[in-house]
Formats: sequence, C-alpha cells, structure tokens
Amino acid sequence: MDLQPLALPLEETRNLTLIAGPCSAESEEQVLETARRLACRGVKVFRAGIWKPRTKPGGFEGIGSEGLSWLQRVKRETGMILATEVATEEHVRQAIGAGVDLLWIGARTTVNPFAVQEIADALRGRDLPVLVKNPVNPDLELWIGAIERLHRVGIRRIGAIHRGFSSADKTVYRNAPHWEIPRELRRRIPNLPILCDPSHIGGKRELIEPLSQKAVSRGYDGLLIETHRSPDQAWSDAAQQITPEEMQTIVERLSTARTENESENLEELRQRIDLIDEQLLELLSRRMRISGEIGAYKRENGLSVVQPARYGEILEKRISLGVSLDLSPRFVKEILSEIHNESVRRQTVSTVGCR
Ligand code: PEP
Ligand code: MN
Repeated sequence: MDLQPLALPLEETRNLTLIAGPCSAESEEQVLETARRLACRGVKVFRAGIWKPRTKPGGFEGIGSEGLSWLQRVKRETGMILATEVATEEHVRQAIGAGVDLLWIGARTTVNPFAVQEIADALRGRDLPVLVKNPVNPDLELWIGAIERLHRVGIRRIGAIHRGFSSADKTVYRNAPHWEIPRELRRRIPNLPILCDPSHIGGKRELIEPLSQKAVSRGYDGLLIETHRSPDQAWSDAAQQITPEEMQTIVERLSTARTENESENLEELRQRIDLIDEQLLELLSRRMRISGEIGAYKRENGLSVVQPARYGEILEKRISLGVSLDLSPRFVKEILSEIHNESVRRQTVSTVGCR
C-alpha cells in the first residue's frame, strides 16, 4: 500500500509518536490544565474525546462541538497538535473546521463499514493523518478494510491503533490484546505505522506501564495514553487514566530494547496458560460450592459424608476419561484425590456449621 509517514513530531529519546490527553473533554479548565501539564513534559500531540461512543445510553456521551473551542485554545496556548475521534461525516466536518490536525476512528466505528465509508467520503481530497483503531471484535480483515476505505479516497497518512479486543472470557485486561493480530497486520501492510493504546487494553492504571513496554519491545511506532489532570474525577474511563506526571515517569522508564521473536511467542503462550489457570480455579470453586450443597442434602437425609462406592466409581470413570485426553492415570488420580479431600472437608464443615 503506498502510504506516507504520519509526519507527527516524535518523543525525543525513543522515536515514538506519543499522543496523550483525557478520554473526554469535560470542561475548559480540565482540558487546558491537562494540556499545559503535558506540554511541559514534552508531549506534542494532545488527544481529547469530544463525541464519546458509549456502550449504553445515559453515560457521559461527550461534551460535543462546544469542546472544540477548548481544543483551539490548547493549540493557541501550547502549540500542541490536536487529535480527536470522529464517527460521522458531521464530526469530520466540525473537527476539520475547528482546526483539529489528526483524526481517529474508534473501535466501535471501525466495526461498521457504512460508518467508515461515510467518514472516508467526508475526507476525500484532504491531507491529514487518520488513525484507525482495531474493531472491537478480533477481525483483522475488518481492520484492514477500514484502512483500505481511507486509502481509496486518497488519504495517505494512515496509522493503526491497537486497543485490544472484547471477549466473553474474563481476563485481567479490559480488552484482550491478541498481539498476534497487530503482528499479522504488520506483515500484511509493512509500512503502516502501528500505535498501542495501553489504556484501553488494560483498563487499569497499573497495566499501562507493562503494556507500553511490551508494545515498545515489539517495535510499535507510538503510544496513545489517556491522561487526566485528576484521573479519579474523570467522567469516563477513570480507572485507566493517569496524570501527566505519571505518564512522563512511565515513558522515561521504557526500554527500547527489542524482544526476540521466540520470547514474544513465549509471552503469548504464558498469557494463554494464565487464562486457563483462571478458568480452572473458577471451575474448582463452582465444584466446591456444589459439594457444599450435597453436604446439606446428606445432613438432612442422615447420609454419611464419605461414600466409598461413589468415590471409587468417580475415580474409575475420570481416569479413563483422562487417559483418552492424554493425561497419565497417576496424575488424574492425584488431582482427584486432592479435590475429593477438599470436597469432604467442605461437606463436613457445612455439617458442623449447621449443628
Ligand atoms: C477512546 O479512545 O477514548 C475510545 C473511546 O477508545 P476505543 O474506541 O478504543 O474504545
Ligand atoms: Mn477512553
């Protein structure tokens, strides 16, 4: 794909495009104070959401066009480059009209080809950088499709933002990273700059630093970090926002050393194991709750807690299932015996507890 560089100023020591600012523009003071504190720390590109796509109605849906004049003040007073999210043709018109320099398409918009095409049509003939967040679902083709729609109307300064993917499985992340998807995007469009949004992947402050480090180690071209003058008071995404000072500390600590491919794979395999361990524990906890209920039943019906015939039967069935799943009989037997002991303990505890 013939693309041109984003041509945005880079963070001085690490050659990264660093975009920072609040999830949402809330008030003129909040926007200006956050921007000033970021500008003092060398940040050159300021983000703020003016129109906010919320999963459910009733949350803060963005201040709307009123906030554009606050962004203009940021530019006048700090010289920062302005970035905001657009989801419709009208947003594009108003943002460009107000002098916003860089636009991004949010994850809830990238999923919809009609919306992306509407935005692309509104951008025909313009020359400004446009960043495309990954769609909420892990669909690389949808992500590439949105990029192609922009390319077809003549936009050449295009970048991608990796912000993670929703998933039904509960994980430590708000949005599962699936690092293999942006890696494949890089293989398919090698000259496309890719930025990481650790704020929306992690959903929690503590995860911003490790995720940023991972992205930099993998050769990402930049970071987009949600930054607020007083994060706990933020009207949207409070748990994942940090102060400009915290952001500076994180960026200064980033090591630019690249991770080898092997260890990237290792990292992904470890993440999968973490998830499976969480699921195993959740299942064990459900099993133990049922044991407690069985304990109550046995107590009411005067049955003894340990019933050797039942245990022998379970053991036999599970060992043969385990063998068919490539697990050794000794291993299955040991695990089951531990589970059985805990189960008996639970049933006994509930019996004693109810006397
Ligand atoms: C945002 O950047 O504030 C935002 C709404 O992000 P996403 O589209 O990644 O959810
Ligand atoms: Mn946000």
